[in-house]
This record gives sequence, C-alpha cells and structure tokens, in this order.
Amino acid sequence: MSKYWSDLVTQLEPYIPGEQPSMTNITKLNTNENPYGPSPLALTAMKSLLNQDLRLYPPPGADQLKEAVADYYALNADQVFLGNGSDEVLAHVFNGLLKQSEPLLFPDISYSFYPVFCKLYGISYEKIPLTDDLSLDLEGYKRPNGGIIFPNPNAPTGRLLPLKAIEQLLQKNEDSVVVVDEAYIDFGGQSAAILINQYANLLVVQTMSKARSLAGMRIGYALGSAQLIEGLERVKNSFNSYPLGHLQIAAGIAAFEDKVHFDKTRNQVIESRGWIAEQLKNLGFNVLPSAANFLFVQHNQESAENISEQLRDLGIIVRHFKQPRIEDFLRITVGTEMQNRQLITALVGLLK
Ligand SMILES: *Cc1c(COP(=O)(O)O)cnc(C)c1O
Repeated sequence: MSKYWSDLVTQLEPYIPGEQPSMTNITKLNTNENPYGPSPLALTAMKSLLNQDLRLYPPPGADQLKEAVADYYALNADQVFLGNGSDEVLAHVFNGLLKQSEPLLFPDISYSFYPVFCKLYGISYEKIPLTDDLSLDLEGYKRPNGGIIFPNPNAPTGRLLPLKAIEQLLQKNEDSVVVVDEAYIDFGGQSAAILINQYANLLVVQTMSKARSLAGMRIGYALGSAQLIEGLERVKNSFNSYPLGHLQIAAGIAAFEDKVHFDKTRNQVIESRGWIAEQLKNLGFNVLPSAANFLFVQHNQESAENISEQLRDLGIIVRHFKQPRIEDFLRITVGTEMQNRQLITALVGLLK
C-alpha cells in the first residue's frame, strides 16, 4: 500500500500465475507448458537475428507473422491481431470489445484472469455456473449480455464444447461478441476459426505458448472479422506500438511453418494424456474427459490438497485451486513420458 497509488491500483486484485520454481530438478506439471521444446526451426530463426540489427524497432504490425497465421487459417491478414502473449490480446479484447453496458458472461469455473481484466477495466460481469458435471451450461447464456467469453477446451476442466454448440451461441447473440479462448484447441478440438467469415460477432483467441511450446516468447493472437480486428488495433496502437520484437516475429513464423514438429509433439501429448488417464482411473481417480494438455481429476478418498502436498515433497508440482466447487480436484499437466511415469509411480506409493 502506498499513498501514491491511484484508487484503481489500490483496488486491483492481480492474477496469480502458477509458480515457476527456480529449482531445476523438479517435475513441473502445474502450468500447462508443453513438455517438448519449440520447433528447432524457431530456435534457428531467432539465433540468426542475434546481431546489431536489434537496434532497430521491429515492424509495428508484425505483418509477416500476421500473413503466416492468416495463411494457416485461410483468412486475410486484416483478420489477424497479434499481441505479447494471448493475455495481452485478451486485455485489449476486454477493453476494446467487452466493456459494454450489459454485463459480460463467463463460466464460474474458468480462466481466472477474466475477472482480473474486468476489475482493471471496470467491466461488469456475471458468472454462469457450469453444470454438475462441469460442462458449459449453454442455457445459462441466454440472457442480456455485453459479450460472452470462455476457453474451449475449458480451463481448468479440459472439457470441449463442440463447434455446433458454439455456432448456436453465435446465432443467439448477434448483438454481442462471443470470444472463444482456444489456448488448448490443438490438443483435441476443432478451431472455431472456420466460422469467422460466417459470424461477424466471433472472435477466436489463441496462443503460441501451449501447443507450439513458445510460452517463453510471449506470442498470442486473435482471429475475427476485419472490423473486430480493427477495433483491437485501435486499442493496441494507443497502448504499445511494438508488442512483438524481432525474435518473437521470427520464432512465430518458423513455428507455424514447422508442421512436422507441431504434429509430432502434440500427438505425443495426446497419447500420453490417454495413458495417464487410464493409470489415474485405476488408482481411484475420477478423470474428466480432456481435450487439452492437462487432466482435471478427483480422487475417491484422498483430498486433493493432501495429494498435491505429498507430491510436492517428492518434487512433483501439480495445480490445486482452493476454490469453491473444485477444491477436490487437481489439474495435472501432461509431461514427458518419463515425467508421467514418475507421477504415476509416486501416486501408487502415496495411495496404497
Ligand atoms: C495459458 C492460457 C492463456 C495465456 O496464454 P499466453 O499466451 O501465454 O498469455 C490464455 N487463456 C487460457 C485459457 C490459458 O490457459
């Protein structure tokens, strides 16, 4: 607290990310990073830029990366918005598109950054409870709103909403923007990006942090109609002209070009997810169906808090949310095959 803070700063409730421990001998299954590294082509592209030319500002629109993303999704470059991680993209989306007179709607169990953005920008919101099995309650969104946002697959549940359901939501909400936060879509879902030319109220937000394994580079993007994107550009150009540096742009382009690495690593994650789910079920866990690179699980006897603390003592970190409705659950990121075996071995020891 300081008397020099503005009222706004005093009242903020900042987002708390999952911890990034400094110890290296730890099995880190708590923040949904990709256990496999980024494309070697991305690393090479970045290395080739480590020279005196870094004195120059990057191209403000990062147009080449925009083209690469647009090509991949069969869109035009003016339908792509880029930002410093999708968290920054989301910040501009909240500020530029979701601050309306009616409240914003999002699920009660969801990405916990959403209410933080609402507080920052003074946006009123209503949380729509997930159903008892932690699925999105589509009926709940049939009410006056200034926008709708949810992750698909949802975080931290991993549950996927089919495109058909998203399409129904878009049709019933022609007067407000529906934002689909697809941070994990490449691990098992079909992107709503194919609906963009049909629905002017659809905005799809994605990140290169998860399936493309570049969390450390901070690259996110939004896909939507040219009008929605222009709105976001207006906010961005009133905030930071150069959210992406030379290295980010080059890494992003190369990562999009390296389809082989992308498919190989995400398929490994998908396969491991199936294996871990089976093992966990055998150990007495209820495992929600996941289309993401993590599993949301609940043990039939032992408390989630106990399990997470005991795993931590063994050097394995998973995520436990001390939050109503989900305090009995753990969110476990899919790791390398070795990390996954280590997790299961540890659990077998703890639960016997
Ligand atoms: C990880 C995540 C993000 C943020 O990704 P960055 O691009 O790294 O900022 C956004 N939304 C959801 C649901 C996420 O899980």
